[in-house]
Amino acid sequence: MASETRRVAVVGGGITGLAAAHAAVSGAEPCGPDVHYVVVFEASDRVGGKILTTAFAGNSAIDEGADAFLARVPWGTALARAVGLGDQLVSPAASRAAVLWDELHTIPEALLLGLPTEVLALARSSLLSWRGKFRAASEPFRRRTSIAPDSLGTFVRARFGDQVHLRLVDPLVGSIYAADTDRFSLAAVPQIADLASSSRSILLAGRKAKASAVAASGPIFYTPSGGMGMLTTAIAEAIASAGGEVRTNAPVTELAADGAGWRVNGERFDSVVLASPAATAAKLLSSVAPDSARTLATIPTADVAIVCLAVPVTDWPSRLDGLSGYLVPKPKQHLVTAVSFGSQKWTQWHVDDSVVLRVSLGRDGLPVLQLTDEQVTAAAIDEVSLHLGVSLQPSHVRISRWPAAFPQYRPHHSELVAEATRTLPAGLVLAGASYHGIGIPACIRSGIEGAARAGNRQALAH
Ligand SMILES: Cc1cc2nc3c(=O)[nH]c(=O)nc-3n(C[C@H](O)[C@H](O)[C@H](O)COP(=O)(O)OP(=O)(O)OC[C@H]3O[C@@H](n4cnc5c(N)ncnc54)[C@H](O)[C@@H]3O)c2cc1C
Repeated sequence: MASETRRVAVVGGGITGLAAAHAAVSGAEPCGPDVHYVVVFEASDRVGGKILTTAFAGNSAIDEGADAFLARVPWGTALARAVGLGDQLVSPAASRAAVLWDELHTIPEALLLGLPTEVLALARSSLLSWRGKFRAASEPFRRRTSIAPDSLGTFVRARFGDQVHLRLVDPLVGSIYAADTDRFSLAAVPQIADLASSSRSILLAGRKAKASAVAASGPIFYTPSGGMGMLTTAIAEAIASAGGEVRTNAPVTELAADGAGWRVNGERFDSVVLASPAATAAKLLSSVAPDSARTLATIPTADVAIVCLAVPVTDWPSRLDGLSGYLVPKPKQHLVTAVSFGSQKWTQWHVDDSVVLRVSLGRDGLPVLQLTDEQVTAAAIDEVSLHLGVSLQPSHVRISRWPAAFPQYRPHHSELVAEATRTLPAGLVLAGASYHGIGIPACIRSGIEGAARAGNRQALAH
């Protein structure tokens, strides 16, 4: 007997929505063959969301948003391979980064997201004062620290002191999440949270975790040779060839109950994966799941601006060759939080006679998008010139504005997400950067798991 056609709508054509749709149409585990028809509704005129690759300074493919994904967890690499990009994945040519504290200091070795795992490596670094180093080295002798407050900053300060927090962990983790880690969830950074919940001394437990990470061979980051946009384009093409539909310029404005299923912009579906940011999901859910909507609407976000500069190679100091970039710790920030030396980090970003810099401005608590383009450009050029002790005269400038781009996981974020999910009616699924991790592999995982729930009658009939 032919099984009835099961229809799934996916709201949002970012990496999460695309991963969800791809998982559903390809019928692989954990989705299985239950879903028969998938439509991705994307509000804008392109797929990719926070992934956008465009031309800059004569190079056809330089990322405006995310520029790589973590290779040491499976989801990004597996999806890239599944859509035929396995042999196009490249890793950074330069991986040595620095922290700006009056001058540039190379980041010490043997760190786990900024946490020291080797006292000697820390002792050799010029980034911390001797007082800061002694305070950090006393970590194994301290009593266990409670994880109950769920604040990354509070936890790291208690274990290692203010210098490790302000000069290492906050810049490293803060630059990933555009966060102020004093008001960021510890549980949202699993590499640190797992150590914190299982061990008294993070330094000693971190040493073991670091040793197994080093033993795991292979690159830490990957990106397709044609930029991250190559990945989202390839996924969208794979969805279409497997019989799914990806509609751009198709904002979802209606989500309503329709018998046992759901009506999306006038069409009936059995289930819906909400893969748009939490604020949009909250609007769509306001009449069908008001409790979830109210909870989701409380998730804050941070804006950032990314300024790309092409600087004549003749003006570039040779002492910076081989560095991938640097981070600016909170006490030293005006607007710039991090600078990637893009064309040193990625060989495919090569631009004739220039060095390409990617300057990040703004974070949680440091607004930037109220400024004009001229002000943002001036801040990027002036601050980086000051940091590096050179007068940058870029030949090309590009500004990318990313409003509300980084969901902020405040302490106890996971409880808030659990509450929003618990009050969601059957047939509706949340997925994406607002919930269980903002990195691309975490978004892909969330999309795949969302598709599995959307395609599974039993799981949804809760
Ligand atoms: C500047 C920047 C740099 C980053 N760098 C990295 C990095 O190097 N590595 C990494 O792992 N992560 C990085 N990230 C984070 C990562 O890119 C994002 O967390 C991830 O791409 C989010 O994917 P998503 O699909 O969940 O959301 P989004 O990309 O936001 O996609 C959601 C989509 O939903 C659409 N939408 C919204 N409302 C509606 C509606 N009503 N109807 C239909 N569609 C709708 C939007 O148009 C959008 O396309 C970066 C993020 C930014 C902003």
